[in-house]
Amino acid sequence: MSGLSVRPGIMEITPYVGGDADVAGVERVIKLASNEGALGPSPKAVAAYSDAAASLHRYPDGSSDDLRQALDRHHGLDAKRIVCGAGSDELIGLLCRAYAGPGDEVLHSEHGFLMYPIAAKTVGATPVAAPETDLTTDVDALLGQVTAKTRVVFVANPNNPTGTYLPTAELARLRAGLPANVLLVIDAAYAEYVTNGDYTPGIELVDGGDNVVMTRTFSKMYALGGVRLGWAYCPPSVADVLSRARNPFNVSAPAQAAGCAALADEAFAERSRRHNDTWLAWFTKQSRDLGLEVPPSVGNFALVRFPDQPGRDAEAADVFLRSRGIITRRMAGYGLADSLRITIGLEDEMRAVVDALKEFLD
Ligand SMILES: *Cc1c(COP(=O)(O)O)cnc(C)c1O
Repeated sequence: MSGLSVRPGIMEITPYVGGDADVAGVERVIKLASNEGALGPSPKAVAAYSDAAASLHRYPDGSSDDLRQALDRHHGLDAKRIVCGAGSDELIGLLCRAYAGPGDEVLHSEHGFLMYPIAAKTVGATPVAAPETDLTTDVDALLGQVTAKTRVVFVANPNNPTGTYLPTAELARLRAGLPANVLLVIDAAYAEYVTNGDYTPGIELVDGGDNVVMTRTFSKMYALGGVRLGWAYCPPSVADVLSRARNPFNVSAPAQAAGCAALADEAFAERSRRHNDTWLAWFTKQSRDLGLEVPPSVGNFALVRFPDQPGRDAEAADVFLRSRGIITRRMAGYGLADSLRITIGLEDEMRAVVDALKEFLD
């Protein structure tokens, strides 16, 4: 026995496990397990990353100034209220660290992103899950779970792994129903993909008060997960808090350079978005035609639900797909043991998945 005592909550964490990248014995793997943008990053982002290698001896700009200016111009925001992080995961963790602790509650929806309960436990707070309706965040259920101990509410919009989203009016209703001492974090990791007219990433909600934050990432549509880059748009007081709580050089110089170049390459972003529109719709229809249930997704992935029959369930499907070199994501950790989450990849990858599913269900 060690004489060290670990802070409350840490030992209750089930470590987050990323999607697998290989299958033993299979040479060409199709990886559709981590919602990485199908087309990969913009070649201009890769070039900027490589160019940054010439000055690796220099510390990065600790305030990610160029990147914040670029985000400001791109989205029409105030750069002073943007805080960059090593992935939005870092910002999720920092928000919990700054606003919650032992005795406090951190609220999220039933099938919400797993990092929320992990980040809550890291600071000794208690994660609380509110039920969903039709695999969609339920505003009344969330509001019903708010107590005097609630400090932070996380909503992924659209949500991972369900792919569903709350329309603007519902998000506004959630915000309006929360007490002023509760921070609402809108995690818009997939916002770049969403074109629905009744969707908002939440910028105007951040602007409308001092207790709403929007987090974004370069890991999904910009396909820069490997460099770890995310950002938060905050009320001034929250930006100040995050800037104090973060490490001084939390975003590497190559990440900042790649992010700026990715943002500037609008043609590539548009191609990525259109690719997803086409193949998400195609894959959803194909899966439904096979008799599988797929909730409507607006992200770059689909939740595919399998029948509760031995040999035909999600576990068997996963084993079968892996035997064909196709890696998707099991969802038991999200309370969705009947489902696989399948990322939208390239055309040949999506055709290969559908062929394999046909064979599996035959
Ligand atoms: C992938 C994902 C993130 C994490 O993104 P990083 O910027 O890579 O840390 C955050 N939230 C949701 C909902 C995600 O799916």
